[in-house]
Amino acid sequence: METKILSSVNTNYINSVKQTPKTEAKKEQTTSSKVIKGISVAAAVGVTALAVGGIILRNKKMPNILKLSETINFREAKTLDEAIEYGTKTLGIKHYEGFKNEDLDVVNWINEGLTMCANKAKSKGQIVMPKKISYIDDIGEFAFKSGEIGEAGGSMDCYGTMQITKSIINDLKNTVIETVRNSNMTEEAQNEFIKGISTKRIFDTCSKLKFDENDATAWRGGTYSIITHEMGHLQHRHNMQNLKLYESLGTSRQRPEKLAKGAEELLELFNSKQDIIGKISSYAKESPKEFVAEVYSQLVHGVKVDDEIMELYKKFGGVV
Ligand SMILES: [Zn+2]
Repeated sequence: METKILSSVNTNYINSVKQTPKTEAKKEQTTSSKVIKGISVAAAVGVTALAVGGIILRNKKMPNILKLSETINFREAKTLDEAIEYGTKTLGIKHYEGFKNEDLDVVNWINEGLTMCANKAKSKGQIVMPKKISYIDDIGEFAFKSGEIGEAGGSMDCYGTMQITKSIINDLKNTVIETVRNSNMTEEAQNEFIKGISTKRIFDTCSKLKFDENDATAWRGGTYSIITHEMGHLQHRHNMQNLKLYESLGTSRQRPEKLAKGAEELLELFNSKQDIIGKISSYAKESPKEFVAEVYSQLVHGVKVDDEIMELYKKFGGVV
C-alpha cells in the first residue's frame, strides 16, 4: 500500500512545495491542500476492494438500534480518554481498541463521522452503532477471518465491529510529512505545518479532489466517507432483518449457495441498472450491498441523490 500511495504523489506538487521560497509557518499551513492534492484519490484513501467470502460468525449477537440524544453536538476531545468517554457515553460504543495517545485525531475523526450519522438518522438519534471500534494494522487479515467484505480503509462486520486501517492513515500522513521535510520551508515552518496535520484535515482535502474514473472505486467525496460507508452496511443489515437475504445481496463470492427468497429478482434488477448505479461510484456496481453502503454514505454527507437511485436504494433495503 505504501508504495502505491507514495508512487502516486504528483511530482509537480512536490516540486511546487520544494520551490516555495521561505514562507511563514502560518501561511504554509493553509496550503496543506496543495501538498495532498498530489495524491490520487483512490490511492489516497485506499479504496482497493478486498472481497472475501464465506465464513459467518453466527454465534455473535448483532447490535440493535440505540436511542441516543436527538441532537448530538460533537466537540473535539483534547485527550484520548476524553474521546473514548464521548464515544461510550454519547454514542453508545462499548469498546475502543488499538488507539494510542498519538491517535487522538483519528478517534476524533471517527467520532465525528459517527455523530453525523446519528444526527442524520430518520428518527433522530435512533441508529445502530458499532459495538467496537478497532484500529488495526491491516484490514486484509480481519476481512479474511470474518468473511465480511472489507476495504483497505475500513471494514464492518454485521456483528458490530468497525475496523479502521492504521496503515492508510499513517501512509497519508507520512507522505505529507516527507513532502514537507523535503521542501524549502524553514525547519520551524516545517514543524508548524506537521503539527497541523490531522486525519480529518487530510480526508477533508482528499474529499475535494477530482475523481479519476479509472482509478477511484468507492465514493470519497466526503470527509467521513470511510466511516459512513461502513455505517451504511450496519444500518442496511439491521434494516433487512434477514441475514440470508442480506448475504444474498453480496458479491458472487459472498453469497450463500442457495439464495434467499426474493434475492434473485433483486440481483437481476441490480444487474439491469448498472448504468444508473455507476453514477454513485464504480464500487457501488460491485453488489447491492456496496450500492446501499455508498448511497447511505452520500446521504449522510448531504449529497442529493436522484429519485431513481433512491427508489432502488429502498428496494434493496437501504435505510432512508
Ligand atoms: Zn463496503
